[in-house]
Amino acid sequence: MIGPDVVDEVKTGKGSQDYSTRTAFQFSILEQLLMGGKYEKYREYIKHYKRFVKDWLFGQIVQQLSKDRSLEKLEKKHLLEIVKIITDTISNIRKSHSTIKDINTFIQKMCCALGEKLVFPKDGLDLIMTLNYSENTEQFADYLIDSVGELEQSLAAVYDKGGGIKERLRSLPFMPQDKMFTSLFGCGEVCPFCHAPCEAGGKEHTKHFSSIHRPKGLSAWRYRETKVLVIDICSSLVISGGSFYISSTAKESYPYKDYQTYYPDWVITGDPSVEASDYWKYVMATFNERIATDTDALPADVPEDWKALTPDDAMKSLKGSFNMKD
Ligand SMILES: [Zn+2]
Ligand SMILES: [Zn+2]
Repeated sequence: MIGPDVVDEVKTGKGSQDYSTRTAFQFSILEQLLMGGKYEKYREYIKHYKRFVKDWLFGQIVQQLSKDRSLEKLEKKHLLEIVKIITDTISNIRKSHSTIKDINTFIQKMCCALGEKLVFPKDGLDLIMTLNYSENTEQFADYLIDSVGELEQSLAAVYDKGGGIKERLRSLPFMPQDKMFTSLFGCGEVCPFCHAPCEAGGKEHTKHFSSIHRPKGLSAWRYRETKVLVIDICSSLVISGGSFYISSTAKESYPYKDYQTYYPDWVITGDPSVEASDYWKYVMATFNERIATDTDALPADVPEDWKALTPDDAMKSLKGSFNMKD
């Protein structure tokens, strides 16, 4: 229950507008990357998109839940609720039966009262049945009341010791960042050439699609003979006469026009008039040398007008692509 609560907390708390739609979320990531200006961050985003976004989300969740001890409050709320069900059930059983006769009935009533709030694994229950309490179920009930009473203090102690929010979150069976990833990112697939994320809605679609392709050199594509990074974007490449190698070791090259034979799940709309956005032109021009050294390639021949772009131009272009107002 804590996992879904955490998602709610993040989606309704401060900064929640960034998570309101997929577009807003994509925009806020690219905006932060631009403002941070770090090559390493871009590299991670482009190369390991899913991991980057999940880690990024996790960081945001941790930040949000550290404020006002939010996670501790959430845990405490659920814990108190469960403790109350347990103690209430015990006193109800006592009222109706005066003494608790056998441990089997007792445990059954307890499980019934907790319903789906807390489901015990079967081996755990079997173990309790074998305990030597069949003679004295009353005493077992007393011990149970004492030990659930102590849970609240032990939870507080975990947090007082500075017990990590990260560890608590990682131990959840329902990972909030995974859940948010799916709702904010759909399938999480990226373009096989430039690594632009798929924008098709939901998880169930037959073809992946992206409207903003990037200069391919950003994901380290180069010309095999010269090792020079490529600055063309996918929408013009797929209608060009050029060809590509499916991997750096592949012997045979294939015409771009036939890309669907090799990437049947992708639809890349060919359009010679579409250029890279100023945002990605700026990123390519800024990190051209870094990408080249980092990937054992040679820098691309970046046009002068790309080099002249400023972070402000990139920002304007980003807002334009995402229809965000100034
Ligand atoms: Zn692409
Ligand atoms: Zn997709």
